[in-house]
Amino acid sequence: VTDDRCLEMHLLMQADLDGELSPAEAARVAAHLPGCPECRAVQQRLSLVSNGVRAAAPIHRAPQTLRHSVQDIIAAEAGRVRPAEASRARRTWPRRSSFATGLSFGGGFALAACLALAIVLPSSNRGLTDAVVSDHIRSLQPGHLMDVISTDQHTVKPWFNGRLAFAPTVKDFRSEGFPLAGGRLDYLDGKEVAALVYYSGKHVIQLFVWPSGSDLDHGNTGGHRSGYNFIRWSRDGMAYWAVSDLNATELNKFVRLWQGT
Ligand SMILES: [Zn+2]
Repeated sequence: VTDDRCLEMHLLMQADLDGELSPAEAARVAAHLPGCPECRAVQQRLSLVSNGVRAAAPIHRAPQTLRHSVQDIIAAEAGRVRPAEASRARRTWPRRSSFATGLSFGGGFALAACLALAIVLPSSNRGLTDAVVSDHIRSLQPGHLMDVISTDQHTVKPWFNGRLAFAPTVKDFRSEGFPLAGGRLDYLDGKEVAALVYYSGKHVIQLFVWPSGSDLDHGNTGGHRSGYNFIRWSRDGMAYWAVSDLNATELNKFVRLWQGT
């Protein structure tokens, strides 16, 4: 059974793949891993997944000659790389592409795994992460957070009717420590979105909701940006992003309440 600390570690390790860990957080992960076989296994899976996606993704490969000259430049920059090591580094390229071939022809399991991985780690989401987090920050300006202020889900939900082309589900978790505070209409990535506002103590949590445009559900992935944690998932055709300055563990608790898990 993974405890809350491990869940936080999992989020941090995912963020690490995107190069989003601060040195202090990286140190916390490094301190946790030796004592926790479970998290070590998760990390191993995550890096396999990440490498698998990189190897199998449809990347336009540079011509061999360009690759070699780039690698030579890198080797020269590194200074202390001897020619033998440089040519060994070169040989890793064909090896990686044969791994990609293996994935393509390796049967249903590998293919299914790749599909799952590609959904778990969409590389194009970096821009969307920036958009969601900066929208969160912008809306924290006085007077911008809520268009409808109500702790009553039966007031907030109908407020969206006629203002949006979809009807977001609105839930309240007052008794669990995450009271609903209201909602707002917003635009993200050129789309109309619903923003639901919750509190946890003095921390604001915003849950952005919009139609995902896909029937594929995907599980929680998280990370953080500019001091804010986020967890995103999609279910039943809707995309959800929870953003807050709450710590990852508490935000995860909120998300699980929302998901009813
Ligand atoms: Zn752990």
